[in-house]
Amino acid sequence: MNGILYVIPTPIGNLEDITLRALSVLASCDFIACEDTRQSLKLLSHFKISKPLISFYSYNEQRRVKAIIEKLSNGEKAALISDAGTPAISDPGYVLVKAAIENSIKVEVLPGANALTTALVGSGLPTDGFIFCGFLKRKSGKMKKELEAFLNLEKTVIFYESPHRILRTVEMCVNVFGKNAQMCLARELTKKFEEFIRGNANEVFDIISTRARENAKATVGEFVVLISPTKTKYPERHT
Ligand code: SAM
Repeated sequence: MNGILYVIPTPIGNLEDITLRALSVLASCDFIACEDTRQSLKLLSHFKISKPLISFYSYNEQRRVKAIIEKLSNGEKAALISDAGTPAISDPGYVLVKAAIENSIKVEVLPGANALTTALVGSGLPTDGFIFCGFLKRKSGKMKKELEAFLNLEKTVIFYESPHRILRTVEMCVNVFGKNAQMCLARELTKKFEEFIRGNANEVFDIISTRARENAKATVGEFVVLISPTKTKYPERHT
């Protein structure tokens, strides 16, 4: 009889954001497929969980999928986790989920932490329709094209960005969506220095470029970028 692949979200910062069900499945599975074993060991030892780990990341995923599917086909129960948040959302994981489905292995996805919905809800931007783009293309020309495709959709556009590129990306958003588009940078969600930088695209660019000049530390950390091409305006006091 086939085993089960459990997809388990882990916290994106605050360790208390793991669910009771996640802990119980992690404690009862046969092995855990994870991204960075050192990172996962920290989390698991915090919760006093000790299980065999199989590292599964972007560069070895094809090779590891075969081994994991073999174990699942032999009836083992596997938990898939990533370094943070929900596996398969801009993380390795999709390939394993797809392979499990193709091999008639049951996939159970636990609901839990992820950066995009946390950012969207806290942004105050329209939530009735949104587009999540993962990480945008890195080259300026390609990134611009990708963003331009969302211009007329009237949906909140959400993407992940690294701190090294945040300034350049916000500038690109001003160019593509215009100065008055409503924008939010959700930084360090659920962590000590969590903040939402809200305003029109020009204001957000001013804030982030001033910080980059005066205090580079305030532009580090993890970011989710949200932008709304609609006319919905933030209230006067928005930060
Ligand atoms: N699987 C994760 C999820 O469910 O959100 C996303 C993993 S992706 C490799 C990592 C990116 O997610 C970061 O570069 C950042 O853009 C975003 N992210 C993750 N944690 C975050 C946090 N605490 N605050 C803001 N953004 C975060």
